[in-house]
Amino acid sequence: MASVEFANVRKSFGTHPVIKGVDIEIADGEFVILVGPSGCGKSTLLRMLAGLENISAGEIKIGGKVVNNLAPKERDIAMVFQNYALYPHMTVADNMAFSLKLKGAPKSEVDKRVKPAAEILGLSPLLDRFPRQLSGGQRQRVAMGRAIVRDPQVFLFDEPLSNLDAKLRVAMRAEIKELHQRLKTTTVYVTHDQIEAMTMADKIVVMHDGLVEQIGAPLELYDQPANLFVASFIGSPA
Ligand code: ADP
Ligand code: MG
Repeated sequence: MASVEFANVRKSFGTHPVIKGVDIEIADGEFVILVGPSGCGKSTLLRMLAGLENISAGEIKIGGKVVNNLAPKERDIAMVFQNYALYPHMTVADNMAFSLKLKGAPKSEVDKRVKPAAEILGLSPLLDRFPRQLSGGQRQRVAMGRAIVRDPQVFLFDEPLSNLDAKLRVAMRAEIKELHQRLKTTTVYVTHDQIEAMTMADKIVVMHDGLVEQIGAPLELYDQPANLFVASFIGSPA
């Protein structure tokens, strides 16, 4: 586990500013959701935290350490994407083990990590299957399993449920929350869905056009929205 901090973080693509000075503090073990309309900069913030995008100004810290110049693999984080990005020619077990094998972990170590992760996610009977033989929900679980086996300091999710149908989405929300209660890994989760944010987050960061509008617990935002944007986005009776 680790804390995460954004301090006056900015990002421009060419001359176009998309993140305009963002401050966010995330405590050890917290489940934080970045929410806001499409294009407001959620994925860019997450990608900067992951090291997939450099930052134009400011500081990002993980566990109190500035990571601005660290490569993704030096940051001890694991990211789950919306499109799963599973390797089609590998079994579920091999997909889950891939990053460990890449790091040169011995088979005994790989098995020791993959088996309990598969157990937690209900994937044990599916370890020999290929991605094409799985349902959408099962594929999403494999993507989460791949993140879990790495036992990272921080989990990042970028709209992980948006390709699933409504019923499955509700079930997976509960699963992800249970997973967090079990592992207590610091989690930064991006969605444009305010219901997802309200039902899953310890703390919500409402973003709008490259800036943070408000940070607070779901009920705080609902009861005391800082402005009309937050009120209308969260759906509180302002
Ligand atoms: P969100 O995830 O909230 O929908 P993004 O972080 O993907 O928003 O995008 C924020 C803004 O940055 C958008 O205007 C988008 O077009 C722009 N943007 C994102 N990535 C790039 C890129 N690689 N090059 C240029 N503009 C980008
Ligand atoms: Mg996005």
